[in-house]
Amino acid sequence: MDENNISRPVRTSLLPYGKQWLDDNDIQAVLETLHSDFITQGPQIERFERKVADYAGVQYAVAFCNGTAALHAACYAAGIGEGDEVITTPNTFLASSNCVMYMGGKPVFADINPITYNIDPDRVAEQINERTKAIIPVDFSGQPAEMDRLEMLARDHGLTIIHDAAHSLGASYGGRKVGTFGDMTMFSFHPVKLVTTGEGGMIVTNRADLYEKLLLFRNHGMTRDPGKMEYNEGSWYYEMQALGYNYRMTELQAALGVSQMDKLDGFVASRRKIAKKYDRAFDNIPGLVTPRQHAEAESSWHLYVLRWEPQHFKVGRKEIFEALRELQIGVQVHYIPVYKQPYYRANGFAGVHCPNAEAYYETALSLPIFPKMTKEDIQDVIEAVNTVVQRYKI
Ligand SMILES: *Cc1c(COP(=O)(O)O)cnc(C)c1O
Repeated sequence: MDENNISRPVRTSLLPYGKQWLDDNDIQAVLETLHSDFITQGPQIERFERKVADYAGVQYAVAFCNGTAALHAACYAAGIGEGDEVITTPNTFLASSNCVMYMGGKPVFADINPITYNIDPDRVAEQINERTKAIIPVDFSGQPAEMDRLEMLARDHGLTIIHDAAHSLGASYGGRKVGTFGDMTMFSFHPVKLVTTGEGGMIVTNRADLYEKLLLFRNHGMTRDPGKMEYNEGSWYYEMQALGYNYRMTELQAALGVSQMDKLDGFVASRRKIAKKYDRAFDNIPGLVTPRQHAEAESSWHLYVLRWEPQHFKVGRKEIFEALRELQIGVQVHYIPVYKQPYYRANGFAGVHCPNAEAYYETALSLPIFPKMTKEDIQDVIEAVNTVVQRYKI
């Protein structure tokens, strides 16, 4: 049967670009935790950490109250401080570079590859100097960055890699799962991400020294471990050894995370199917550019970005965005190049230009993609895009 012939009512509510999927098991897991003795700092945290570490194939994991806090902790653990430079991509969410500034460091933006929209290792190499301390690559849209080349650069120049994998839990590169690249990997569990804990984040690492620093930073910089203390005045004694924060995750969040992790592979499979359907629908429409994948990358499809080539349409991306919104398709734009933000412009970034990131930004629209989308939702998106193409094509 031709899916296009199914007639159904016009959408009456906005289809968001991303959304969580919680089932009865997830809700049950949180309820059981609410009835237990611990609603924070209990056994669910370690269970969740173990589960994500095992999934990613790494030794250590530290859960945080959100992904941004996790990135902040990673910058602390990497020893980022005043005067240090950290290279990252402009095509990302604010947190990827804000975390460097929290530590007094300076983010340096390296332009993206115009095909994958990920940070270009050649542009990274150009930015490395004696002040460079770390690289924060971001797996934009769920497609891993060129981690093999970035690892090589980091090795050659003694840099730390903090892998921002907020989009790419479940993805792989060169047959290797995301989580094992670089020194530390950050996952986010915001509701639009791959699995959710409401708010939540995690750092996974294979390095024991970084693991210890992350634990310290998450909990006020304090330790109760007698083996690590300078003094020990008795069994009540604790010691503050660094200026840390309260960045802990609750038991409720961790219990939800444990339950959600069981669904991760299924969620990723659904996202891949939706991406394939979109590719098939849009690949041959002049003026539309579907997402291209690096040969080594296996995306987890956090986002599906469709680019609209301006020379093919009578109106710009703004009008196309509004037209799709009017048809109740909750398109979004990911991302405004970070250095264009007023705060950045006022703090030394006014002269920064990354031409590929800017050209990309002018034409990009993210379509709805999340595992709970129905066949009808997907068909609504495809029809709405076709309608808008017909209306505005030259
Ligand atoms: C979501 C996101 C973060 C931050 O995660 P939160 O859990 O929302 O704090 C960091 N980097 C990128 C690329 C993200 O998309």
